[in-house]
Amino acid sequence: MSFLNKLRAGIFRFMQGRHGPDQLALAMLWTSLGLNLLAVLFSAVSWLSTLLSVLGFVLLVLCFYRILSRNDAARGAENRKYLSWVYPMRTRLKQARVRFENRKTYTYFSCPGCKCRMRLPKSVHGVVRVTCKSCGRVFEKKL
Ligand SMILES: [Zn+2]
Repeated sequence: MSFLNKLRAGIFRFMQGRHGPDQLALAMLWTSLGLNLLAVLFSAVSWLSTLLSVLGFVLLVLCFYRILSRNDAARGAENRKYLSWVYPMRTRLKQARVRFENRKTYTYFSCPGCKCRMRLPKSVHGVVRVTCKSCGRVFEKKL
């Protein structure tokens, strides 16, 4: 068995029963790296640089604590809470990007009943009767 295979097997044995990296741990890791980068950029302001470095280090320690933790249920619950906070924001950002990319092709508007977003081609003009697929409300939209 080569050295790398032994190392891989050793790491595998060490990580058995541990939570391992998840989305929250990776976010903490990247935030920690970003904070340390900011600390380098703001090195002229010593108290700010120190504060950013300490925050980055604390975040890094918490990240590795999460990765190496054997309490999988608690770490999983934390990760689910994080994802329930992040995914709606990520979805809104993706939808906003798509709307921006298609802004010359479609007109976007919301249903007055349920605030569901809808779109019509820019080629449509005049007053259009729209039926919401989500709540079934019928309304007129002037384009
Ligand atoms: Zn609706």
